[in-house]
Amino acid sequence: MGRATKGCGCAVALVALVIGAAVYFGKDFAINWWKTKPPPPSGGELQVHVLDVGPINGDSILIISPAGKAVLVDAGDAGKGKVILDALKRYNVQQLDYFIATHPHPDHLGAADEVMKATKVLNVIDNGLAPPGWEPTAAPTQPAKVLSNKKPVAKKPDKKPSIIRFYEEYKEAVSQGGAHYEKAEPGKKFDLGGGALLTILAPSQPFFTKEQMKTGGNEPNANSVVARLDYGDFSMLLPGDAEQQTEHRMLTKDLNLQTDILKVSHHSSKYATATDFLERVKPAVAIVSCGEWNRYGHPAQVVLDRLKAAGVKLYRTDLQGEITITTRGKENDYRIATAKEAKRDVWEGRLPQKDDSTRAGFIAYGDFGPPPKNVNRQPRDREDQRTCPANFQRANTLRNWQLWRNV
Ligand SMILES: [Zn+2]
Repeated sequence: MGRATKGCGCAVALVALVIGAAVYFGKDFAINWWKTKPPPPSGGELQVHVLDVGPINGDSILIISPAGKAVLVDAGDAGKGKVILDALKRYNVQQLDYFIATHPHPDHLGAADEVMKATKVLNVIDNGLAPPGWEPTAAPTQPAKVLSNKKPVAKKPDKKPSIIRFYEEYKEAVSQGGAHYEKAEPGKKFDLGGGALLTILAPSQPFFTKEQMKTGGNEPNANSVVARLDYGDFSMLLPGDAEQQTEHRMLTKDLNLQTDILKVSHHSSKYATATDFLERVKPAVAIVSCGEWNRYGHPAQVVLDRLKAAGVKLYRTDLQGEITITTRGKENDYRIATAKEAKRDVWEGRLPQKDDSTRAGFIAYGDFGPPPKNVNRQPRDREDQRTCPANFQRANTLRNWQLWRNV
């Protein structure tokens, strides 16, 4: 009995030693494994709604995790708050767990304040960069005592150009809403519950500067927050308006870029979605978020040709409205539904209204203004597009839109 007890004690000690050594030497491996490995899918449904925030241009993507957590990536242009709020109501989203601002351009943040004033947002994530030309106001903004949908009565006239004012309004809405603010940094992961995980891939530092931009490039776009969404075997890449320079920088890093679905960068501008990047991402599906009245030449034919050569299935918000992806996280198990059927070939790009192949020729945000209100029909083909600029220019003059580049 005594010998048996003694033997048993030695065995226990040996097992404890082995476990201790495994924990000591294996902890880094285990931590790294947990850091890189998405949690197992719960089997519940993950939804991704690429909202139709046209007709000018813009991005707004609503993610609802199997656990019911909601993420909004970008918020479209000013005046698009209703589209987003309607979607939140439609999908029974009571609050946004995360709002991710990919970059400070008005077609991504224009309606952020409209959304934040009407919906509780718990966390706001952006790249920490202000748009070029923006300076913080000298006097701190008075916080609103009560959030309401009504416009502030005694708001002092803001002399900042409208192209910068959207950012001011975004910052105000973040501080007034009381959301936790976090800077997007590569490697950060956000657990959306039920097995869904959002990982930040870019921007990495040092940030791209204006001087580093190649012809046609734009540094706020190049420094876009890039994120990937994982849920079991399902994955989606959300690159904001990242440029080819961003893509090539990501290719040099040890990043998992391969995804089932690619939200095509920069509304399928010719300045993004390089062939070598596509070869690494290997998407089965590409989704272009752009407006049917955009005058930037989005989607660019050259990019659509690259996507076609890569063998992807293509969806476009300008032709099909809101695009919804649902999945339970099993391999190749995702469904895609569109709000309407495309009335023209999705593989046919749009022509820009201005040659932007040199810096002097940049297409400026607001160059063409909004679509005229007295025009009910939508452009059906390129001929229609060619007939519109006069109206756009008139609207532009009336509204005194400020110049901006390459939104
Ligand atoms: Zn954009």
